[in-house]
Amino acid sequence: MYNCRAFEVKVEGIPVVNVDSAWNVAMNKRTFIRLFSALMASPMISPLLARAAKDKLTNWAGNLEYGTDRLYSANSLEQVRSYVKKQNKLKVLGTRHCFNNIADSTDNFLSLKSMDKVVALEPEAHTVTVDAGMTYGQLCPLLDSKGFALHNLASLPHISIAGAISTATHGSGEKNGNLATAVSALEIVTAAGEVVKLSRQRDGEVFLGTVVGLGALGVITKVTLDIQPTFLIRQYVYVNMPLAEMKDHFDAIQSSAYSVSLFTDWQNQRINEVWIKSRMEEGQAFDATPEFFGAKRATKNLHPIAELSAENCTEQMGVPGPWYERLPHFRMGFTPSAGKELQTEYFVPRQHAVEAILAVERLRDRISPHLMISEIRAIAADNLWLSPCHEQPSVTIHFTWKQDWPAVKMLMPFIEKELAPFKARPHWGKLFTVPPSELHAIYKKLPDFVQLSKKYDPHGKFRNEFLSTHIFSS
Ligand SMILES: Cc1cc2nc3c(=O)[nH]c(=O)nc-3n(C[C@H](O)[C@H](O)[C@H](O)COP(=O)(O)OP(=O)(O)OC[C@H]3O[C@@H](n4cnc5c(N)ncnc54)[C@H](O)[C@@H]3O)c2cc1C
Repeated sequence: MYNCRAFEVKVEGIPVVNVDSAWNVAMNKRTFIRLFSALMASPMISPLLARAAKDKLTNWAGNLEYGTDRLYSANSLEQVRSYVKKQNKLKVLGTRHCFNNIADSTDNFLSLKSMDKVVALEPEAHTVTVDAGMTYGQLCPLLDSKGFALHNLASLPHISIAGAISTATHGSGEKNGNLATAVSALEIVTAAGEVVKLSRQRDGEVFLGTVVGLGALGVITKVTLDIQPTFLIRQYVYVNMPLAEMKDHFDAIQSSAYSVSLFTDWQNQRINEVWIKSRMEEGQAFDATPEFFGAKRATKNLHPIAELSAENCTEQMGVPGPWYERLPHFRMGFTPSAGKELQTEYFVPRQHAVEAILAVERLRDRISPHLMISEIRAIAADNLWLSPCHEQPSVTIHFTWKQDWPAVKMLMPFIEKELAPFKARPHWGKLFTVPPSELHAIYKKLPDFVQLSKKYDPHGKFRNEFLSTHIFSS
């Protein structure tokens, strides 16, 4: 299902109307850098382009070569409707940041990348409505310039809003729901090409079932998000927290600021780095003492993987900055995380957090040779049917792996076995081996979701291998 072939781009044979957009979607950072450097170094342009022409469409990490490179780029709602009506099978491609095959298709891709505008900013309703191709990186500075903010962001701003909410992408902060909890309305094109508008206020359970839709219900064309007045954040990093301090004071650590992330390589009984993002409003500010539960305040900006340059990370050292330049760990315009990597992540109920973390820590000698870094975050409960935080405050245990798929594939079942007693829920957009039967056991709303999808997509137009295996297999 997944491979580790180098990222490649194919321009020839993309049977699309809008080839420029297909090229943009297909051209990822590594290919761009490779091609650009080579072009600069050599006048031999034609052989290079000839090589690029053999390349394939892959996900961001390059670990997954998609099953087709037939990609149509829509510029309007009408184009989306007409394309959807004509196809028997298709998947919408966001910014391709999922590590598994949830976005994959062997038939057709639809990209909304060029549908990336703010549709309406409504200060009185505290909402912003955007086209579904927009990324957080595009929206946030615009929103901030008008005096508004979102409640939270993921570790990176590069991802599309529609793709992120579809997989319940999250940031950190025990009082912050995942990014999908900010959605107050959606516009969707169903398999029949009909336009459906749903809102939190009007559509109750159906709305709650639709927001984290895994790409199964239709094409999201517009998203309305809750906004709040803009705010400033100071970010501090602490290093070397003894594991025993984390164990004894987990709740105090997580509640110490608006957003808290713990990074560990599981070595030497320690949390390597604690990232604290503190809102500056009165009563919320974090008291940045030189020591924090045995950890020392860092004296320079750090990357979560201490050996890597902090150049691509958001500003730290308590320098105040706008919410959208502090809530993500990684800066827009730079490669987020490590780049050549794989990711897995599991949500455990908050009350079992310490037990679950210690269970993973016992696997340290197996895990560490293949790991770049792990991150532990807290997320508030919500009521979205397929959210891993559905009706449970959660803590996530995340793994950024070296890009060695055979090793990661072998390790995941060990981790999942340790976390099974806590009914851990895997991140929908990352790699996992949890069997479908277990997913059905831990998501009580899954049967309702299957029914809902039959309403919008009776013949499985938006289904792919991932959905058929994990959601529709019972
Ligand atoms: C470096 C890195 C860091 C990450 N950090 C985090 C993090 O901090 N927190 C976290 O939770 N996750 C994180 N992720 C995971 C990632 O953000 C999510 O998996 C997210 O879904 C990616 O969005 P995308 O647009 O790239 O999705 P894609 O991979 O393109 O698509 C994901 C799903 O959304 C569907 N979809 C996309 N657009 C639409 C649409 N318009 N209508 C209907 N369906 C649609 C697709 O069909 C697919 O099913 C990270 C990933 C990477 C690579």
